[in-house]
Amino acid sequence: MRIVPISLPTPFYIGPVNVYLIAEDPITLIDTGPKTREANEALREALRKARFRVSDIRRIVLTHAHEDHCGLARSVRDEAKDADVLVHAWETGHRVGRLEYEEHRALLVRAGVPREEVERMRKMYEGVRQYADSFEADEYGELHDEEELEFATGSLRILHTPGHTPGSCSFVREADRTIIAGDCVLKRITPNPVLSPDPIDPNKRFASLAEYLVSLARLRTFAPTLVHGGHGDPVEDFEELFNRYFRAIQDRQAQVVRLLPKAGATAWDVARQMFPDVDDVHRFLSVSEAVAHLDLAHSEGKIGLEMADGREVYRPQ
Ligand SMILES: [Zn+2]
Ligand SMILES: [Zn+2]
Repeated sequence: MRIVPISLPTPFYIGPVNVYLIAEDPITLIDTGPKTREANEALREALRKARFRVSDIRRIVLTHAHEDHCGLARSVRDEAKDADVLVHAWETGHRVGRLEYEEHRALLVRAGVPREEVERMRKMYEGVRQYADSFEADEYGELHDEEELEFATGSLRILHTPGHTPGSCSFVREADRTIIAGDCVLKRITPNPVLSPDPIDPNKRFASLAEYLVSLARLRTFAPTLVHGGHGDPVEDFEELFNRYFRAIQDRQAQVVRLLPKAGATAWDVARQMFPDVDDVHRFLSVSEAVAHLDLAHSEGKIGLEMADGREVYRPQ
C-alpha cells in the first residue's frame, strides 16, 4: 500500500498542509487542503505526477475538519462522482464547515473574553469559513475507532485521537508502524488543543489537553517508526517528540499557575499575560492555550476554579 505525501499551499499562518494519497484500490485521499484555487491546482498537479486524476478518487478520509484539511472535500467528492467522505462523529463543530458560534460564544464569555473581543473573533472566523464548503448530515460516513480502512493489499487502522479537536483521527499501518496523524503530531510546534464544546454536552467544554495527552500516549504504544503530520516534515523519532511535548506542556502549566494572582484570574487574563503582543488571528488560539493548561492544572488539583459574574475565575491553591 503506497502512501504518497502531498504538500498543498494554504492562506493560513501555519503554511502548507500535508494531505496523503493512498495509491491503491480504493484510491483514497486523506485530507484535501483548503478551498483555494492554488491548493486545487497543486492537488491536481501532484495527482498527475502520481499518475492519477481527481476522478479516480473513491474515498476521502478527513483527519479532522479544520478548513486547511477539509476545504476541498466537497469539490473533490463531486468531481470523483460521489466518492465516500468519512470523518469522526465528534468533529461536529466544523464537520459541516461552520463553527457553532453560539456554543463557542458561550465558552469564550465564560473564559472571561470581553464581548467586543468575542465579536472580533467571530468576524475573523467568518473569514476563515470561506475556505471550506459545508456538508449536509447525510453526505458523509463516520470513522470509528479501531475499525480498519481496507485496501486491496492491506489496511489502515483508525485511531480516534482527540485533543487538537474532539474528532481528530489517526491512521496506522501496522505492518511497518507508520502513522498518519493529522494535526495530532507536528514536528516543529506543539499542536494547540483548540477550545471546543464537548461533542456530547455542548454546554461544557471539551477537556482538550487531557484528551490530547491520552492520544499521544496511545500513539506511543505503537512504537511508530514514521509519523506523517498535518504540517511539516514527517517525524522519525516519535519518542523524542513525545518527551519534548510533555516537557513543553509541563512548562506551560507551571507558567499559567505562576501567572495566577492571589485574587484569581480568568483564562483571558492569563492569555493576555502569556501572549501580550498577539495579533487578532491568534487571540482565539491564545485563549485556547490558556484554557487548556488551566483546566488541566485544575483537574490535577493544582489550582481552584469558581464562577464569578458568569465567568470562570482560577485561583492559586
Ligand atoms: Zn487543525
Ligand atoms: Zn492543520
